[in-house]
Amino acid sequence: MHSTNLHQLTLAELKQGLKKQAFSSVELTQHYLERIQRLDNQYNSFISVCQEEALSMAKQADTQLAQGDESALCGIPIAHKDLFCTEGVRTSCGSKMLDNFTPPYNAAIVDNCINAGAVMLGKTNMDEFAMGSSNENSFYGPAKNPWNSNCVPGGSSGGSAAAVAAQLAVAATASDTGGSIRQPASFCGVTGLKPTYGRVSRWGMVAYASSLDQAGPITKTAEDAAIMLNVLAGFDHRDSTSIDEPKPDYTTTLSDSLEGLRIGLPKEYFSDGLDSQVEQLIQDAIKTYEALGATVKEISLPHTHLAVPAYYVIAPAECSANLSRFDGVRYGYRCEDPKDLEDLYKRSRAEGFGEEVKRRILVGAYALSAGYYDAYYRKAQQVRRLIKQDFDAAFNDIDVIAGPTAPSPAFELGAKTKDPVSMYLEDIYTLPTNLAGLPGISIPCGVTKENKPVGLQLTGHYFSEAKLLNIAHRYQQETDFHQHTAPAID
Ligand code: GLN
Repeated sequence: MHSTNLHQLTLAELKQGLKKQAFSSVELTQHYLERIQRLDNQYNSFISVCQEEALSMAKQADTQLAQGDESALCGIPIAHKDLFCTEGVRTSCGSKMLDNFTPPYNAAIVDNCINAGAVMLGKTNMDEFAMGSSNENSFYGPAKNPWNSNCVPGGSSGGSAAAVAAQLAVAATASDTGGSIRQPASFCGVTGLKPTYGRVSRWGMVAYASSLDQAGPITKTAEDAAIMLNVLAGFDHRDSTSIDEPKPDYTTTLSDSLEGLRIGLPKEYFSDGLDSQVEQLIQDAIKTYEALGATVKEISLPHTHLAVPAYYVIAPAECSANLSRFDGVRYGYRCEDPKDLEDLYKRSRAEGFGEEVKRRILVGAYALSAGYYDAYYRKAQQVRRLIKQDFDAAFNDIDVIAGPTAPSPAFELGAKTKDPVSMYLEDIYTLPTNLAGLPGISIPCGVTKENKPVGLQLTGHYFSEAKLLNIAHRYQQETDFHQHTAPAID
């Protein structure tokens, strides 16, 4: 492979190339850094680029590779969403509040990647504190969709999805509280995996809504997602909700047969509000699965319509507690010349947080306040249980749930910024998965007439990541939608 085309390769292919010494990690890293420098002014997918750190990590990886090191990501340049703490590298979380914050330690998954030999290219753009579905809430300006720069890349992990789609990184980490891995993956025509809650450590990841947050990879293919998950997943005693389940090698079962696979199509996911082109592409994908030996049946998840209202009480409630730590005292933004302590708190928070974050803190504090707790927060938790029970019942007779990732393809920048509720409805098919703690994946299944990518969402039972990746990979062996790149990408 000519070195000018290295960005077209998948992570699995790059691993082979590095092993055979077809190119070095330094060459590969330089190649990506040059692309970021030349092209990212169009996409704004990075908040920080780590030129020097990346090259020194690449040099070290080359030494290790020469000694036959076979670590899973040895020499592979990747990007991290800017809410994973990185020692010595600014971690802004897309917010003015943390614009000056350089953590003294690495998040667990950042360390996992370093221990596996990965090179860190930089930190990707995101909605402020991961709140949003379009990346338009970033203090650093929106990331743009590489398929159409008038459109949003989705959110909150829009920078990670745009960077992979524009081939500025072969893989990126991301986080998903209500859809932020899967929805941007769908909008940008890439693969995004949200693992089971507790599968990947949250230690060192800036908290949004702790009972929902989960980290995972955005990649070009399901095979690459399996390689990444092998590195990211695992028990961590520092995260009290990390689960000590055995970790399979996710790459070994990718090509297993799908003969007899039972797919459920929730009737609530194919109703009003679903774009007709999206629906058609999902139906086509289901036919591919039938040809691979799967059986398909309609199921019902009767409480689906309550997911958006329940989530938009629970997530703000948790965020109002989590974000109370940003008080202008310990770290982050501090206002100029405070009159007294109260003024310091008030103005630091008023000036440091953006509009959407403030809206959520207000909603959350209200829902948790005495007198409203039972009516809103407790009620939302009860609804959450009903949603989980819907899934438990469904998984009695099916193996996986299929449907759209989002109700429509990428929308134009500014189209929903004036109407928060229409933005919240973007998450209608992804939120239930987080409320139940289940794993889900979005894979490209075609483009609309306007050449906008569409994602197929697959949701599995707890800890069924290996199965989900197998189901996604078999589809990618049969189809080439994941190989299509945005038109302007060279
Ligand atoms: N769009 C949802 C929200 O704004 C989900 C975001 C996320 O998954 N981080 O809360």
